[in-house]
Amino acid sequence: MGSLSDISAPDEMRFASRYAEVSAGLERADTVAGWRAGFDEWDGLRRDWKSWANLTRLRYSQDTRRDEYREAQCELDRRTPAVTALDTAMKRRFLASPKRAALQDELGRHAFALWDADITTFDPAITDDLVRESALAREYTELLACATVTFEGEERSLGSLGPYLQDARRETRHGAERARWGAFGARAEQLDAIFGELVRVRDGMARKLGYDSYTALGYRRMRRVDYDANDVAAYRDEVARVVVPYATDLVRRLGSEAGYERTYFWDESALGVAKRVVPRGDCAWILERTAEALAAIDPELGDFMRVMLAGELLDVDNRPGKALGAYCTTFPTRRVPFVFANFNGSRSDVRTIMHELGHAFQSWKSRDKAAVDYVTPTYESAEIHSMSLEYLSWPQMERFFADDAGAYRREHLLDAMLFLPYGVAVDHFQHLIYAHPGATAAERNAMWQEMEHRYLPWRDYGDLAHPSAGGLWQEKRHIYVAPFYYIDYTLALCCALQFWVAAESDRAQTVARYVALCARGGEAPFRGLVRSAGLRSPFEPGALADVVTAASAGF
Ligand SMILES: [Zn+2]
Repeated sequence: MGSLSDISAPDEMRFASRYAEVSAGLERADTVAGWRAGFDEWDGLRRDWKSWANLTRLRYSQDTRRDEYREAQCELDRRTPAVTALDTAMKRRFLASPKRAALQDELGRHAFALWDADITTFDPAITDDLVRESALAREYTELLACATVTFEGEERSLGSLGPYLQDARRETRHGAERARWGAFGARAEQLDAIFGELVRVRDGMARKLGYDSYTALGYRRMRRVDYDANDVAAYRDEVARVVVPYATDLVRRLGSEAGYERTYFWDESALGVAKRVVPRGDCAWILERTAEALAAIDPELGDFMRVMLAGELLDVDNRPGKALGAYCTTFPTRRVPFVFANFNGSRSDVRTIMHELGHAFQSWKSRDKAAVDYVTPTYESAEIHSMSLEYLSWPQMERFFADDAGAYRREHLLDAMLFLPYGVAVDHFQHLIYAHPGATAAERNAMWQEMEHRYLPWRDYGDLAHPSAGGLWQEKRHIYVAPFYYIDYTLALCCALQFWVAAESDRAQTVARYVALCARGGEAPFRGLVRSAGLRSPFEPGALADVVTAASAGF
């Protein structure tokens, strides 16, 4: 990672004074060119900050136990509100610029719409709350990164249980789920306390900023500028109407085909997959096959993967102390992304790498955008790039799974159908949480059970005590660390499945549309990007029903 090692923390005093210099320059600017020069300087400062911030978060998640990394993460959390204050002031300045119309022509209107949302999410009065929120997110991350369970006689991290949760043997899956939920149950009090405090802090911030509840602030923090909570509620209703009955029936049907009298939670990951489907090699082998697969899909994707491998821009093996999960991050000053994951030998490794490389490819294609706002799109748009690559790589799955590729694809599609209801449940739950910020831990679990009743009516947790008591939501990292970031996956999935359907009839043209969408990065809001890619908005009546109909042909 040679090129990343020289990214360092911008000096605190010097950084603030450079913002002051840009401001003073704008004060004097009386031409569009003058304003544009000021913008470019500011954008450079934002790239410097973002590169260091993202590297700091990456290092910390690579080893949450290393003091040096944790201290840098604390330093970042401490400094972030001050930098947000500097950026907020600068955004206000550009929004009020006498040259705004001409700047919008040059930079695009979307950046201005984003800043319009951004400026309502910060005030120096919430500085301490933001620092507290970050500290609580760290507590959650470390609690789970360091949790171990004894399974089949060995002490393991939660992240390494993956292959057992998807094992072909029912008793292995059951045992692995018991071990996993035992670990959550043992930490329930801490998990409840962390979340209760997060809700209190978030609700407090919202009120200090003049909002009635955290929900409206949460939408603004997610930079949702072209749809609102009513659109999302209507979409959730559509999932309940169209997908839930179909998914319920599918679970029942595949469960009875497998010979189960009752289909338990631990059976869901193996429905329709009669045997153990795992990649036929280790981490390095998977990355080599991935490089071949991407080159076969599109030469540009192949070139991009060579950049990732040559720059050592992937960290995919599973280690104790490493944070759970997978993500892609970017270093705008180096114009390269980075993929973080926790491979565990399960079939999910392949899907994860395709997903994260979809994000990475978009960020690489968008690296030269005029505004750093456009390098990283809003999340519901960004998840189209990642989820679509999961589907566009389908014909390449033989490279990883040989004769089991068909079973892999079937499982992937089933997972999509079960994910849509789960995804909207996670979203709806958070609307309830922030509408009732004073709820107790038991009341929150009851709210989650209400969601399961509405969206996941087939669920049977058997003897798993913690999920049976309504605690399943506590494993969902987003609920803790990225509030309201979840409906995004379900909206994007509806778009990705449209690419999947289109690729079946014209693969080359569909891949070209995908690459073009990645190149647009975040230069437009969600609906605009979707339209430009020739896709139907998931908010449009019938769009969801059409993809479910197409998917149902797979079963
Ligand atoms: Zn993603």
